[in-house]
This record gives sequence, C-alpha cells and structure tokens, in this order.
Amino acid sequence: MNKTFEISKTFYFDMTHRLSFHEGKCNNLHGHTYKLEVFVSGDLDKHGFVIDFGDLKKIVTEDIINLLDHTVAVYANDDLLVSAVCDKFQTVLFPFETTAENLCAWIAEKLQSRSLNISKIILWETPTNKAVLTL
Ligand SMILES: [Zn+2]
Repeated sequence: MNKTFEISKTFYFDMTHRLSFHEGKCNNLHGHTYKLEVFVSGDLDKHGFVIDFGDLKKIVTEDIINLLDHTVAVYANDDLLVSAVCDKFQTVLFPFETTAENLCAWIAEKLQSRSLNISKIILWETPTNKAVLTL
C-alpha cells in the first residue's frame, strides 16, 4: 500500500523591507529574521525518502536563501525605496508589495519550477506572524 508522506525543512534568512501602502509602522524601512518552512509531499522512493533532506537544502539555499539573505527587498513600483537603496545596497526587486503572503507565493513558484512537489510554504515574518500557502 502506497503511503503519501509530507516532509519539511526549515530555513532562516534576514531581510529588510517596507510596505509602501501601509499606514502604520510597516511603512518604515525595517528588517525581519524570516523563518521559512518548505513542505514537500509524495510517495516514498525505493530507499524510503520523499526527497533527500540534503537535496532539498541545496535547492532552497541556492534558489531562495542565497538570493534574499541580508538584502533589501524592494517593490519595483515603490519609487521612494528604489531611489533610496537600489544603487547603494544589495537589493532584490519584486513586482509586488513584499508582504509575507506575496513572498510565500513567489517562493512556492520558484521552487515548483525546480520540479519539487511543494505542498505547503510557511513564512514567519516574526515569531508570532506567519503566512501559510497550501498548494
Ligand atoms: Zn515587515
């Protein structure tokens, strides 16, 4: 009998951002230590793996963590932030406001393009605030 498993691996990265639409303190430039949980589901291979944790670590580190860690996340339409940081700091441009929800969806899309059977992405912005995307 085939059993479907879900495994997950947790990552951390630091990133600066702001929400240009926000009328509260999130409008100001600030940073988070993000906690990212990546869930992969599937049947077991002949060894008893859904995916080798080492392979998952390599893909997420290369595609997500190395790209975002210690950068400034910039919404491309945020003219104030673009002019303030883009030629001065290491930045990553996004075509959307960098909410935890939007970042979750972007991370899922990037990892799905690597043929990973992503079942869930959880992105913690703070120890008490998270976005969960179930696929
Ligand atoms: Zn924030």
